[in-house]
Amino acid sequence: MSDKKSVQQKMFTEISDKTLFQQAEKFGFEYLEKAFDRNVFPSEKALENLSIFEEKMPVEIGNATQILNQLNEVGSPATVSQVGGRYFGFVNGSIVPTGLAAKILSIFWDQNSAMQVISPISSKLELVVQNWLIELFGLPSKTVAGFVSGTSMANFCGLSAARYRILKNHDWDITEKGLFEAPKIRIVTGKGAHSSVLKCISMLGLGKDNIEWVEADEQGRIIADDMPELDSKTILILQAGNVNSGAFDNFEAICEPARAAGAWIHIDGAFGLWAGATEQLKNLTKGLEFAHSYAVDAHKTLNTPYDSGIVLCQDEEAMIASLHITGPYIIIGKERDGMYYTPEMSRRARIIELWATLKYLGKKGIDEMVYGLHLRAKQFAEQLSSIEGFAVCNDIVFNQVIVQCASDDLTNQVISEIQNERVCWVGGSTWKGKKVIRISVCSWATTEEDVNLSVNSFSNALNKAIGKI
Ligand SMILES: *Cc1c(COP(=O)(O)O)cnc(C)c1O
Repeated sequence: MSDKKSVQQKMFTEISDKTLFQQAEKFGFEYLEKAFDRNVFPSEKALENLSIFEEKMPVEIGNATQILNQLNEVGSPATVSQVGGRYFGFVNGSIVPTGLAAKILSIFWDQNSAMQVISPISSKLELVVQNWLIELFGLPSKTVAGFVSGTSMANFCGLSAARYRILKNHDWDITEKGLFEAPKIRIVTGKGAHSSVLKCISMLGLGKDNIEWVEADEQGRIIADDMPELDSKTILILQAGNVNSGAFDNFEAICEPARAAGAWIHIDGAFGLWAGATEQLKNLTKGLEFAHSYAVDAHKTLNTPYDSGIVLCQDEEAMIASLHITGPYIIIGKERDGMYYTPEMSRRARIIELWATLKYLGKKGIDEMVYGLHLRAKQFAEQLSSIEGFAVCNDIVFNQVIVQCASDDLTNQVISEIQNERVCWVGGSTWKGKKVIRISVCSWATTEEDVNLSVNSFSNALNKAIGKI
């Protein structure tokens, strides 16, 4: 008879009883304690155990405690410990503890950031953080920010505003008339552009075949002298932080003349834009204020929780016109309705963690943390260069290191040996037509000792790989 309770009654009990949440918190703390020392990638056994999740859609109402236990026992060991200090794959990033704590609190709030009337706190924090970002990156005060899931979406928003503005300047309202008969937009970008930029170009109907590619130098930067003549129908897409080498396009040389020619400049600064918020590395982004729109992730270099991307745009009208929706039930807020600056309407309140992280770190903390990533990347490169068999391929300007072995086969084998060792995690890429190991230092938690341990694992992996090839 005990299970005759309705799901509503059960859920009220779970709220008042609280043990469910205390259990989640306990599991979370246990996870964090181990996250810095454990094997970075899940063991084979943990991966095999994931098959436990393959069950039919349940019919009956479940048992909350069991559900949480299953996640803790089977799910947790199958996570990748990117929170710790030895995850160097892709460009990811850990979590600043205050951001994590703020997220935990905000989960209870479950706010929807669409409009001020739906969440006054989110609206306020979005406005505050918008101003902080303007100050941190040295942008004009008219700049607006949209808080989206990541840089892929931020690139989409920036390029969508660009498409709107360029066509509007040529008497064509894209939102009404569409693209079919529109004046042709030119797209200029460097050969080192990130794949997400290309995806946005295709999603926006601009067509990848229309790209005018500019040669990149040996670090992956656009060669400024090779830029074609730009005009008022051009979108120029630049990069702060090449995804392999970490190199920055030369904004100082490129942006001012490009703006003067009437082009719209968008900067993909997913992880690199944060250099502009530091004292010690801001030279890398000199001239960025001449661009029109920017995409940057908070979940990478700034170490906020996922998912947190930001689009910044100096042209508020273009941004709103290209993204906004209207409807009879929409209540326009006095201060800020976040949905005007994003493609989504309902959105989780990722601003809460972002605000908490920025408030906690302050300018000094950002400087220390981001410069720290750079120092650890330099340490990595120096130590690897001193091992025979590894060659560092890039200048370490920011947080990225790319390394090569004697042949592509050997590099591939070394990558899989490193991954098997599980001391750290790195992935591969290609650079100048050759296979490379790609190291991205993105976690505040990476210590000198983490780099030592990882370099040691690289060295073991090389010896094992040489024996097998
Ligand atoms: C990571 C990255 C992206 C994509 O960002 P997401 O947050 O994963 O969508 C775009 N450009 C560059 C340079 C990146 O490093």
